[in-house]
Amino acid sequence: MRIGILGGGQLGRMMGLAGLEMGLEFHFYDTAADAVAGQVAPLTVGAYNDWEKLQAFAAGCRLVTYEFENVPLETAQFLRQQGAEVFPPPLALEVAQDRVVEKTFLQGLGIPVPLFHAVLTKNDLLEGLERTGYPAVLKTRRLGYDGKGQALIGGPGETERAWEELGGQPLILEAFVAFEREVSLIAARGRGGQTAFYPLTENWHRGGILRQSEARPVGLEGLFAEACGYATRLLERLEYVGVLAIEFFVVGGAGSPAGTRLVANEIAPRVHNSGHWTQNGAGTSQFENHLRAVLGWPLGSTGARGQAAMLNLIGVQPSPTQVLQIEGAHHHWYGKAVRAGRKVGHVNITADSPQQLQERVGRVKALLESLA
Ligand code: AMP
Repeated sequence: MRIGILGGGQLGRMMGLAGLEMGLEFHFYDTAADAVAGQVAPLTVGAYNDWEKLQAFAAGCRLVTYEFENVPLETAQFLRQQGAEVFPPPLALEVAQDRVVEKTFLQGLGIPVPLFHAVLTKNDLLEGLERTGYPAVLKTRRLGYDGKGQALIGGPGETERAWEELGGQPLILEAFVAFEREVSLIAARGRGGQTAFYPLTENWHRGGILRQSEARPVGLEGLFAEACGYATRLLERLEYVGVLAIEFFVVGGAGSPAGTRLVANEIAPRVHNSGHWTQNGAGTSQFENHLRAVLGWPLGSTGARGQAAMLNLIGVQPSPTQVLQIEGAHHHWYGKAVRAGRKVGHVNITADSPQQLQERVGRVKALLESLA
């Protein structure tokens, strides 16, 4: 049974590796000849509007899915028109690709989002700043990732610089959320509508790039229930099939009358970096569960097996030996060339107790710092 995957980056590569174990075959489609998923299965190199190539690609596959959310909507719609089964549904791409559409959609479902303002002109920006106050974050509506296409506006004196950097394309201005922490929920929904949720993951970003994640199987029960409620609404409204991630800010805290609560930052209609710990720390990895979902197979257990964390390898290449001599550390390498600021792998860390996890995470961090 062959699955077609649009996008051939590390997420596709890891999905392929998980699926090969279950006897699946894969065919990737990417614009780049050196896309790393091509290391594990055949790769067609083509543009996302090369209709003939896309048609031939889909004709050889039982169904088509994707591993990155910037696959053009027209590409997914074209493949559906050709009779291919495409999961997750193209509507999810449409919503996730534009930050204004995304936040409006979430708001419509009663899911809290930061105060935001669509910006096309400098006047819009000034109007928006009157609503949000300072600090505020100016972002591109489309194609932003890993902190690219974002500028923090700390005060009126920084408006001009942010406008010079990003002006001239559709933008969104968001109020800066003074969050207590950041968490994400990785959810799966099968073809029959059954759902499964991994424990919340706590995440730490620097420069807009995810650095570290830790599974939170205990201690955040209230927030977990809130997140699952929001995710259920979203999955049902999208008639979603596959794995989806929602990133949240946690705001409020002990001193706040309303207590802690969640504000949604963004959604990703795909497997997600903050779910990589599930490869070694959960009953079933997010990659396997995505495949199970799109194939209409039963979903696997999303329960955590003990304690788990993940550290991204960003522009550094430790040797496998250096990583693996730390007990509980699992080395994951994407087969990409190492460049500053580029995600080239990750280390998953498992442990039996929170103390043991922190001790092991500390050792991996010290290793990465020694290489930076
Ligand atoms: P994004 O690309 O929107 O996920 O942003 C990347 C990271 O930048 C987030 O995970 C936050 O750490 C930070 N960030 C983005 N938007 C905001 C905001 N409105 N308020 C505070 N921090 C933000």
